[in-house]
Amino acid sequence: MARTADVLVVGAGILGCSVAYHLARMGPMRVIVLDQGSVGGEASGAAAGMLAPQCEAAGAGPFLDLCRAARSYYEQLKPELEDLTRIDIEYLQWGILYLINEEEDEGTEGRYRWQRKLGLAVERLTPEEVRTLEPGLTKEVGGALFFPGDHHVNNGELTRALAHGARLLGVEISEGSRVTGFLFDRDRVVGVRTPEAIYTARHIVLCTGAWSGQLGPLLGRRIPVEPARGQILYAELAEPAVRHPVWGKGGYVVPRLNGGLIVGSTVEYAGFEKTVTLDGIRRLSELALALVPGLTEQPFTRAWAGLRPHAKDGLPLIGPLEGLDGLYVATGHFRNGILLGPLTGRLVAEMIVGEPLSFSIDPFSPRRFGL
Ligand SMILES: Cc1cc2nc3c(=O)[nH]c(=O)nc-3n(C[C@H](O)[C@H](O)[C@H](O)COP(=O)(O)OP(=O)(O)OC[C@H]3O[C@@H](n4cnc5c(N)ncnc54)[C@H](O)[C@@H]3O)c2cc1C
Repeated sequence: MARTADVLVVGAGILGCSVAYHLARMGPMRVIVLDQGSVGGEASGAAAGMLAPQCEAAGAGPFLDLCRAARSYYEQLKPELEDLTRIDIEYLQWGILYLINEEEDEGTEGRYRWQRKLGLAVERLTPEEVRTLEPGLTKEVGGALFFPGDHHVNNGELTRALAHGARLLGVEISEGSRVTGFLFDRDRVVGVRTPEAIYTARHIVLCTGAWSGQLGPLLGRRIPVEPARGQILYAELAEPAVRHPVWGKGGYVVPRLNGGLIVGSTVEYAGFEKTVTLDGIRRLSELALALVPGLTEQPFTRAWAGLRPHAKDGLPLIGPLEGLDGLYVATGHFRNGILLGPLTGRLVAEMIVGEPLSFSIDPFSPRRFGL
């Protein structure tokens, strides 16, 4: 079977769904998304959903700028996407609490200072203030930073909404379709092959997350992205355990709107192994109980693991691959794909339709790896 599209997107995680959704919004175009599994079935469904530039970034620079622009973009995306799809993405503007961590390079005080210098919203809280804000937290807390501008979202619902919105705007999403090869016409990539069909298109976007490195050899390139496993433990609670996401030493707890609590996460380089391990469960249980001692008697609901796409330098890869006309990548979003996915999708769509980019992504070009 042979199919033709204007744009083929490989991967239906948040990146692929976001690229497809934004392309469909920009104009009449035939867009097909292919995924070897299902929409949001990998890292994008497994994440904790924090939109947290101020917790994640180590200092000023292009990465922080990109993360902040991506966080702001949610203000625009949320109403548009929810109006179109009627799916509540649970975009919760509750702020994030970041407990004092003496092991951090410059200490939490250093984080407070550089963020204040940049004019970012950050408050320093005494132990008493932390206890008032979060009565369920351990009494051992030595103080915290509060980032009122960092938020969280239900990443599974967001990915589903982007896919549903794309479909409503005419995009075709084919689940269970594994790309196993590419079609070339001299320097141009003109299509992909799956075991069932051949697809041709003018533009092809690889949003293949942790699997991006595996596709490189089929293109004669080394795409330096590897899987970084993250395990998560989840408890369905009758009463919310905390009122905000809380970052502590070695991980975080994130409350869902339904009262459920996410406890995450490990960062392990274990190949494509998605097992939940006893060691992972032990570490996450210890973290949860150290932060919220009252959880001891709560029922354990389930645990899962996902594979983050980790590029060699920890930064996203966004843009065309030189010498392979028509081919773009949007991968390597590592710990911040939920935060960055909506904006990256829009930027890739702008690139493809030839619109001026709404944010400069030069520092994240694959050119930095000679690609
Ligand atoms: C435990 C954990 C917690 C996290 N917490 C956060 C957080 O709080 N905030 C945040 O911003 N980020 C977080 N992340 C990171 C975030 O989840 C990822 O960066 C993001 O989901 C990556 O999206 P993606 O679309 O690139 O990859 P994925 O969601 O993995 O999607 C890639 C898709 O490509 C498909 N695919 C691969 N190869 C092929 C092929 N050959 N043919 C067809 N399809 C293919 C796969 O089936 C998959 O569906 C977390 C991740 C984990 C694992």
